[in-house]
Amino acid sequence: MAREFPRGVLEFDEEGRLTLLGRPVILMGKDTIAQLQHSVETVLGSRTAKLAFYHAGLSVGRDLAERYSDLEDHESALRELAGWASLAGWASRMDVVRITHSPPGSIVRAWGTYAENYPAKPSEGVCHLIAGLLAGFLSARFGHRMVSKETSCLAKGDEYCEFVVSGK
Ligand SMILES: [Zn+2]
Repeated sequence: MAREFPRGVLEFDEEGRLTLLGRPVILMGKDTIAQLQHSVETVLGSRTAKLAFYHAGLSVGRDLAERYSDLEDHESALRELAGWASLAGWASRMDVVRITHSPPGSIVRAWGTYAENYPAKPSEGVCHLIAGLLAGFLSARFGHRMVSKETSCLAKGDEYCEFVVSGK
């Protein structure tokens, strides 16, 4: 059965700004995000698009790490992030497959990402925003620079998007 959106999560503040859990948001179709990234690819090239979207994801991830900084253990914090991501529409479902502390690393799978709305069939993963989000979040948590690599992607025809986050 379809999940119900929790009440009070999406609301207007006193000045009429739309907020999701207190954070001002713009509601945008996943196809719009996919199109935005695809346009950057077309105009500036795939490498630039990847860097730009990954970089944007990094800062969102770092902000969210701050939000969950009261959670001491990294696994609970990462599961909270996965819950937030599926609530905010970044994925329909996001699972933490594994998280290790030494060396620091994680594997995360996601379904229903904006890859399923991608206007082209690529040979590599396209979820740079989500890859960056996970890298930014775990870099802030572990206090090490973490890098995220998307090893499978819905846009390529894989069953899910998978992100391997490691210290290098
Ligand atoms: Zn993907």
